Amino acid sequence: MIRYFDNNATTAMDRDIGELMLKLCTENYGNPNSVHSMGLDSNRLLEESRLRVARVLEVEPSEVFFTSSATESINWILRSSATFRGKKNRVVTTSIEHKATLDTLKDLKNSYGIEVIELRPERDGIVDPEKVMRAVDSETFLVSIMAANNVTGAIQPFEELGERLKAKPILYHVDAVQSIGKFDFKPRRVGCTFASFSAHKFHGPKGVGITFINKGSPLRPLITGGGQERGMRSGTQNVPGIVAASLSMERAVQLSPDTNDRLSRYKERLKVEVEKLGGRINSPLKSISNTLNVSFPGIRSEVLANFLSREGVFVGTSSACSSRNDGGQYVLDSMGLDSRIATSAIRISMSRFTTDEDIEIIVEKLKQSIPALKF
Ligand code: PLP
Repeated sequence: MIRYFDNNATTAMDRDIGELMLKLCTENYGNPNSVHSMGLDSNRLLEESRLRVARVLEVEPSEVFFTSSATESINWILRSSATFRGKKNRVVTTSIEHKATLDTLKDLKNSYGIEVIELRPERDGIVDPEKVMRAVDSETFLVSIMAANNVTGAIQPFEELGERLKAKPILYHVDAVQSIGKFDFKPRRVGCTFASFSAHKFHGPKGVGITFINKGSPLRPLITGGGQERGMRSGTQNVPGIVAASLSMERAVQLSPDTNDRLSRYKERLKVEVEKLGGRINSPLKSISNTLNVSFPGIRSEVLANFLSREGVFVGTSSACSSRNDGGQYVLDSMGLDSRIATSAIRISMSRFTTDEDIEIIVEKLKQSIPALKF
């Protein structure tokens, strides 16, 4: 039996939503842009999904756009914002953003000479909002920050920054990929111009990104063609995926108080057990309830992850020397962790589907593996 603890990488779908997707692929598969009744039916499902997402996020349906991934949403927002920079030239971000942000900004820097300020977090993995505000000057056209970090779970000061940036003529993007179902994220309350979400992080399908664009914000399409998504994102919409994404988002948010209570208990239990085994906790107190990043110095992350994998327990690693990783080691390095800690880090990330039994099993497997691998 599989014990899955890599939910920040991706999550399992609910079976009923998966079955609905299959039906929308094999029976009600009309193109939402066709004028016949099959097309109109698909279009109705598409717009109902937009409305559902808008209700969950407490925004208007016209502010919701569907893409192929959060990576696409982030590319779109950052690249579009750069075209509206006028004479301004600075972007302020952090060194612990997802590569979708960091590499896109690197490309904008190389292509247009845009100045990118990457601020490092404190040792706990949380970025100091004072530092962000000090870096924001009259040359700044965009601030981009994540709501919660995918490697450590650290919750970033995105609300405070929203408050402080409100009065300034600056575009504000929040990468909210790790927020849905974990804490309340309402773009309007945060005061952001843009926010990105990814369905497969909240039990939706892979390949569906959701973008919030505050009404009236400057926006240019990244992908041109047939004019779908009100001319802002061409390409026939992935209706089965979008319907499933909207239902998964609604369910994740509805169930989140219950999920978070349970996962917080599991996390506390895991922390105690990890510390008993001589492990170090890399996630700060202020982190999402599903995520616990820990190190067992002296045991390289991939060695432990492979051992656990053979036992049917799947955890995440952020090792730089593996090609099959989410590249998270740079996050731990940025926090100033010494390399023995950073190279031995594993990420235990849970979900609504994690059970008491899963926790018992991972604890048991850690108890078996840590002493064995240390010598
Ligand atoms: N941003 C964060 C914080 C993430 O964790 C991820 C996925 O790992 C992404 C962006 C990219 O999401 P997607 O897989 O939809 O491209």
